[in-house]
Amino acid sequence: MLDLLLPQRCVVCGRGGKQLCASCRAELPRIEPPLCARCGAPTAWPVERCRECAGRRLGFATARAAVGYDAAARRLVHGWKERGLRRLAAETAVLVAERIPAPGVDALTFVPADRGRRLERGHNPAERLARELGALWELPCLPLLERTRGGRQRGSSVAERRSVRGAFRATDAAPRRVALIDDVYTTGATAAAAASALRAAGARRVEAIAFARALRRG
Ligand SMILES: [Zn+2]
Ligand SMILES: [Zn+2]
Repeated sequence: MLDLLLPQRCVVCGRGGKQLCASCRAELPRIEPPLCARCGAPTAWPVERCRECAGRRLGFATARAAVGYDAAARRLVHGWKERGLRRLAAETAVLVAERIPAPGVDALTFVPADRGRRLERGHNPAERLARELGALWELPCLPLLERTRGGRQRGSSVAERRSVRGAFRATDAAPRRVALIDDVYTTGATAAAAASALRAAGARRVEAIAFARALRRG
């Protein structure tokens, strides 16, 4: 409600007008081929596996993201995650649908928020994104996962990998082909753990799709 009443400012540059102005929207970094076929990391030439994902058991078949997680994308994600700006959630879904073709899956699902975060924010950003995408792609969006324990750590890749192993379980049988939606893909550890839980529940193929992807240099 507040979202509709407050004067609108671009969450990236602060200019009055829309919550995401046209120029900031156009400047969000694209993730363009060549990419790693598996994890979606930008690479010098097309590869089946890259330095980020070679030798890792990822659980998902592919991972794709709409934008690089730079400072502007970070402000945008902060706007819809922490400030709960609904229009931005819809905007991020449109950006994803513009840049990533609809996956050939039976259903979408999303990475569940831990209880603490959900209570604090009053919503799960990944779920909101998945529901918006379900509407755009005309695919059902099913809640299929829950967390086995709290603690969703990000930022440090070592902490993330340690904290998410075995962190999810399925609450229902999963369809054969599922797209797993999350807001930000960092190391892939969260997507891998969630995808493993979906596969344990019957999914044969899991495609991970995120709004933004952390980009490593060098
Ligand atoms: Zn702007
Ligand atoms: Zn890769």
